[in-house]
Amino acid sequence: MSTLNETLIREVVAEVLGRLGGPPSASGGAARAAAPAQASPPPADSTAASAGAAPACGCPVSSAVGPKPSRGRFGVFTDVAEACEAAQEAFQQLSAAGVAGRQKVIQIVKDICWSKAEEWGRLELEETRIGRLDHKIEKLRAQRAVPGVEFLQPYGLSGDHGITLEEYAPFGVIGAVTPSTHSIPTLACNIISMVAAGNAVVFNAHPGAYRCAVTAVRTFNQAIHRELGIENLACILEPPTLESFQAMARNEHVRLLCVTGGPGVVKAAMASGKRAICAGPGNPPVLVDGTSCLDRAARCVVEGAAYDNNLLCIGEKEVFVLEPFFDRFMAALEKHGAYRLNPAQIERLTRAAFVFPAGQGAGCPHPTVSRELVGKDPDVLARAAGVNLPSGVQLLVGETAADHPFVLEEQMMPFLPVVRVRSVEEGIEAAKRAEHGYKHSAMIHSLDVAHMTAMARALETTLFVKNGSCLAGLGNGGEGYLNFSIATTTGEGICNPRTFTRVRRCVMVDQLRIF
Ligand code: NAD
Repeated sequence: MSTLNETLIREVVAEVLGRLGGPPSASGGAARAAAPAQASPPPADSTAASAGAAPACGCPVSSAVGPKPSRGRFGVFTDVAEACEAAQEAFQQLSAAGVAGRQKVIQIVKDICWSKAEEWGRLELEETRIGRLDHKIEKLRAQRAVPGVEFLQPYGLSGDHGITLEEYAPFGVIGAVTPSTHSIPTLACNIISMVAAGNAVVFNAHPGAYRCAVTAVRTFNQAIHRELGIENLACILEPPTLESFQAMARNEHVRLLCVTGGPGVVKAAMASGKRAICAGPGNPPVLVDGTSCLDRAARCVVEGAAYDNNLLCIGEKEVFVLEPFFDRFMAALEKHGAYRLNPAQIERLTRAAFVFPAGQGAGCPHPTVSRELVGKDPDVLARAAGVNLPSGVQLLVGETAADHPFVLEEQMMPFLPVVRVRSVEEGIEAAKRAEHGYKHSAMIHSLDVAHMTAMARALETTLFVKNGSCLAGLGNGGEGYLNFSIATTTGEGICNPRTFTRVRRCVMVDQLRIF
């Protein structure tokens, strides 16, 4: 059997069905999908839409008579069942709008993220009080790099027994959970990937980052409604709670879960009984073996670890450097905008950054990260360390032992511990221990392929970047597409439209092979 050109198969099938008087031909389907948008958009609370009238684009709005409770909500719901019901209806409307409808939605989401990047970046920072404005803006603009419908290429087969097509079909309604670290960016790229695959979605956002997400959902739906007549394609629960998550996970319309966050939500999703795509925690280590340019390695490490005050799950969280190169590497970090803390300052910062079990001080094996300093600016951390920072510092660094809490805990703040190791083997072992088997992300700066291979095999991470910052792993400085949900725990990898599909096979026995 050989792989066939998809277009050819579609044309042949469409022609045969057309002759048999079946469903619309391929060209008819395209015409339906490409139906023009309304010339002049109705106001956001259009009474025509509220009454269920068909929009100018021809998309069906509702078969029910009279206004539905979901009208005029534009995706924002306090009731879980209503949200899921509205999303289910929107899923059916999206199906009717075809591939062109999906493309339109994706363009709307990307355009809005671009034009509102500053406003929404500020909004998210004001609500969460973590991270950096410049990077919050960048993460919204970067939505342009999230792949859409072009990612879904069916798989065609042809042989003596006819032809077969495997298609990437939607699930229906997806229940999604987003983190506090990138609320709108995760929500937006989830919508793009899920809608590209033909789904609708209901979000349970982080309680500390949901208001900005509600604004984004409302704005997206208003624009989608103006263009396509679909009002609730992405729904959000207001306010989100653990109970609303449980109710969402249990709802009959929710066919799949996608959670992005730490260990708690991953555990809850896995225990739900529904299939779950889990983008879980990380604690990415870096190994510097001295065989590559130390200056470049330091520049990359500062770039990645300082990004959004080290909130990225892929961000460099601890560095292991071979002894002979340690001092030069530390000097290079300082040259690239890092400020080095001395041991006493690191000790003070550690006491402020972690909560230790009663009666125990720094060095306790099971501290937990204090939310107080997560995602704060370097000068806030510096004050906690008893330092008055000069301006322009992006990151604090300092030498620690390999079992220091800053190494072993996913601290998500702009202090980067750097550990001296005597050999590559010791560095890989320590990196593996710090990564905790999350299989998330790791970086190496090296020109030795044996070292690269050994580290990749030992850590088995989803992302493994060589000679770049962590950002290169998501297409910023390296090849690849972007998504803020990296399904580490359940193994789907960097989420894309295919992640949110079911594979369906369509078989024609003995016919339609044309030679
Ligand atoms: P968090 O785990 O505190 O919260 C994440 C989301 O899960 C929130 O919406 C929260 O309300 C929800 N949640 C938490 N416990 C829950 C439970 N028991 N039941 C239902 N929902 C629950 O994480 P955060 O501080 O918002 O984000 C940072 C964490 O997320 C880090 O661990 C980071 O590595 C991880 N993260 C992973 C990815 C990825 O793609 N793998 C992306 C971003 C963040």
